[in-house]
Amino acid sequence: MSIQQNLNQIKQTLPEHVTLVAVSKTKPVSDLQEAYNAGQRIFGENKIQEMVEKHDMLPKDIEWHMIGHVQRNKVKYMAGFVSLIHGVENEKLLKEINKQAAKHNRIIDCLLQIKIAEEDSKFGMTEAEALQILKSNDFTQLKHVNIVGVMGMATFTENESQIKSEFTQLKTIFNTLKTHHKHPTQFKTISMGMSGDYQMAITCGSTMVRIGSSIFGVRNY
Ligand SMILES: *Cc1c(COP(=O)(O)O)cnc(C)c1O
Repeated sequence: MSIQQNLNQIKQTLPEHVTLVAVSKTKPVSDLQEAYNAGQRIFGENKIQEMVEKHDMLPKDIEWHMIGHVQRNKVKYMAGFVSLIHGVENEKLLKEINKQAAKHNRIIDCLLQIKIAEEDSKFGMTEAEALQILKSNDFTQLKHVNIVGVMGMATFTENESQIKSEFTQLKTIFNTLKTHHKHPTQFKTISMGMSGDYQMAITCGSTMVRIGSSIFGVRNY
């Protein structure tokens, strides 16, 4: 099936309140253009350099989401245009995003990445660490970042009840954090669910799914 057909099929299954991020990492610009022509405007990349190059080549009404692990020294390259950073996993990174956003006179939306998987390879903070950031004085001083929700990745497993319990855990953490947020109405995004598990994620409360291979086909690294 074509990229357009894949996109249309997925979009038909998504409830209205769920946002689709088309994960285009490793894929050529021509594939992104095809998705763009089919109406897709939100793309997710996991490498800053690659996102910058694609941003330069593609239409400017695209919303670029950084979904990967972020190195602090590279934030400056995307600060002028990135619209949502999913993988904020500590306060140091948040401060750097704030500093670079200020240079562009922007406020950058961020998600706190929470570790819900049991694998050590998955990044993220605990609920307590996230709470500490939201309550800290330092954070209140950061005028150029906006924490709008959480992001999480489930364990890579066939065990559906484990995936379900991890997604449910993220939803519960989201609810707790929301009650401690200075502007609870701005705290609204739960980014969870990929090609293999997005339907389960939506059942568990996801408001944003990050789908790559089901749209663009398998990646050859
Ligand atoms: C690659 C990636 C995805 C998309 O994975 P698919 O299984 O291809 O849908 C989603 N989220 C993150 C953080 C990723 O790195």
